[in-house]
Amino acid sequence: MNSKKPVYVTQPYMPPLQEFIPYLEQIWDSKWLTNNGYYHRQLEKELCKYLEVPYVSLFSNGTLALMVALQALHITGEVITTPYSFVATTHTLLWNNIHPAFVDITPLTFNINPQKIEEAITSRTTAIVPVHVYGNPCDVDEIQRIADTYNLKVIYDAAHAFGVRCNGKSVLNYGDLSVLSFHATKIFNTFEGGAIVCHDEEMKRRIDLLKNFGIADEVTVLTSGINAKMCELQAAFGLLQLKYMGHILSRCAEIDCHYREELNGVPGIRVPHRLAESHQNYSYFPILIEPDYPLSRDALYQKLRDQGIYARRYFYPLISDFPMYRGLPSAVATNLPVAKLVSERVLCLPIYTDLAKDDQNRIIGIIKSGL
Ligand SMILES: *Cc1c(COP(=O)(O)O)cnc(C)c1O
Repeated sequence: MNSKKPVYVTQPYMPPLQEFIPYLEQIWDSKWLTNNGYYHRQLEKELCKYLEVPYVSLFSNGTLALMVALQALHITGEVITTPYSFVATTHTLLWNNIHPAFVDITPLTFNINPQKIEEAITSRTTAIVPVHVYGNPCDVDEIQRIADTYNLKVIYDAAHAFGVRCNGKSVLNYGDLSVLSFHATKIFNTFEGGAIVCHDEEMKRRIDLLKNFGIADEVTVLTSGINAKMCELQAAFGLLQLKYMGHILSRCAEIDCHYREELNGVPGIRVPHRLAESHQNYSYFPILIEPDYPLSRDALYQKLRDQGIYARRYFYPLISDFPMYRGLPSAVATNLPVAKLVSERVLCLPIYTDLAKDDQNRIIGIIKSGL
């Protein structure tokens, strides 16, 4: 019965292959494969323009970019963060010998709740690492106010926030640093990849040093850096992909809109509303399966799977439930009631440029037929 192709939660947009050939020819001719090559420099420039940010440093992936961001700001001790994210957010803290302190999220945006941040600050706290979950901007003004009051750094995990704007500017301009991921599953991808956005040239130099072993010149190594450089193939793909962002975003906006129209008001299904003031990138479509829906979240998840539709429970389990975090004092469920609840109810539905209208209607039909 089910001979249809599987539908995943996301799928990268692949520009026409023949358009990539000239980039490949250039790389073959120049034999310059990595280390700040032509496409690398070009992509940094184009991304600054596209994202409306002053400085971008490209990375081989978002996780290494997070690692380097923490190093660049000399973060130590304790860092306040959210349990409602992908594990890389806190794994990079552990890799830097930093102690994560989890703070609950708000039910409206699923982002860290600023009202809970202050009570989690101790004498060892040095920074806050919030996440713009699903591309919804955090309460950036309140987080900055707290950071200023307590002299803390702010590093945004902006892995979901490519192109997102709030208060009339790029959300990436908030905090000390913002970290992007260009992984294949993200709205803008370079196969694997990532970036740090910073605000001054001095910081950009430090970040670029850190991602290249700390090497300043042939005979000078200034710091114990790592290798986190993006290569020319990745950068070239990014440049090509950037040309299609208009197409990618308009298709995803249509899909988002259609889900909203069809699912808003379905009993037991809650469609989180969009923040009025922000400009989204439509790269996730979370719904909450409430107790008055006839099926549990997991039963609906399974029902979709049985028909070849691979919705994802982002973010379940919570980071704080994984074995390397669960022993932390801040990981106890009573400290994180909202995150716990949302993680037990959330389901992210397929949304990507080439999602067929038929497939989307099939998904909507299955959700409605649960009634
Ligand atoms: C994807 C993602 C990362 C990690 O990025 P990679 O490029 O896969 O290393 C970090 N944080 C969040 C919230 C993510 O979604």
